[in-house]
Amino acid sequence: MEQKKINNKKRFYVVLIFILIIAISLFYFQNYSQKNTTLTQLSPQGDRQMMGYLIKTHQGKLIVIDGGTIDDKDQLIDQINQNGGKVDAWFLTHAHDDHVGAFTQIVNNTDILINKIYVSTNELSWYKQYEPQRADFTEYFLETLESEKIKDKVVQPNINDIFKIDNVQAEILGIKNPEITENPGNEQSMVIKFTTNNKSLLILGDTGEKSSEKLLKTQKEKLKSDILQIAHHGQQGATKELYKQVNPKICLWPTPEWLWNNDIGQGENTGPYKTFETREWIKEMNVKENYIAKDGNITINLF
Ligand SMILES: [Zn+2]
Repeated sequence: MEQKKINNKKRFYVVLIFILIIAISLFYFQNYSQKNTTLTQLSPQGDRQMMGYLIKTHQGKLIVIDGGTIDDKDQLIDQINQNGGKVDAWFLTHAHDDHVGAFTQIVNNTDILINKIYVSTNELSWYKQYEPQRADFTEYFLETLESEKIKDKVVQPNINDIFKIDNVQAEILGIKNPEITENPGNEQSMVIKFTTNNKSLLILGDTGEKSSEKLLKTQKEKLKSDILQIAHHGQQGATKELYKQVNPKICLWPTPEWLWNNDIGQGENTGPYKTFETREWIKEMNVKENYIAKDGNITINLF
C-alpha cells in the first residue's frame, strides 16, 4: 500500500515536470518569435526608381523609411495595414518625389495614423533657388509637412540625435547640407544608422559625393554597419571610399531592373547610368548578400 502511494507520487511529479518543461519551452518559443525584428525592402510598383523600407520592432511597432513615389502608395498602404495599420516613426531622407511621393498621398488622402515624422528640410526659397525644376513638388511636400493633421508630429533632428523605438535605435549621422548646392536635392539626404542588439543598418538616401566626403570627415567611426543601403539607387551616389568605410556584409539596392542593368532599350550596360561601376565596387568588397528591389519585396531578420 505504502509502496503504491510512493509510486503514485513519483508518477505525479514526473508528469508535473514534463508539463512544466513543455510550458517553459512554449513560453520561450513564443517570446523568441515575437522578438524578431524585421526589415523589408519595397519593390517599385511602376517603372520609376524609388526607395522604401519598413522596420518592424520586436514588440510590433512600425518604422517606415521614405516609401516611394505617388504610384507606390497602394503597396505602402497595404504594407502598413498588414503591420498594424499605423506608423510609429516615419523617417524621410529628402524632399524628392521618388522617396516621399507615397508619404504625401498617405497623409493627404488616408486616415493612417503617424506618430512621429523625422525629416530635415531647408526653406522653400532654398529649393526654389537651387532646384527650381522640382520646386512644385517640393512646395507640395513642405505644405504637407505643415498641414494641421501632422505638423505637431514633425521633428527636424540635429546631428547625433538618437531616437529609440522599442529595441531599435535610430542615430542621425547626417542632416541637410544647405552649403552643398551641386546635386542639391540629393545632397540634403538625412543619413540614419539603425541598430538593434546585434545588427546595424545604414540608410543613405540619395547621398552624393560631397556629403560622402563630409560624412567621412565627421562621422568616420560611426559609419561601419552590417547592412548598407546603396545610395541614389545604385549609381552616382555615395563614393567608393564611403562604402569601404561602412564595410557592409549585406547590401540593399533600391534599384529597378532597367537601372540595375543600365539598359534603357539598347541592351545591358548601354545606358548613361553608372550602376555597373557601383556593382563592381561592392563585388570588390566581397559582399555576398545583395538584395535588389527589382526582385520584389524582401524581408530579412534584424533580430
Ligand atoms: Zn531617389
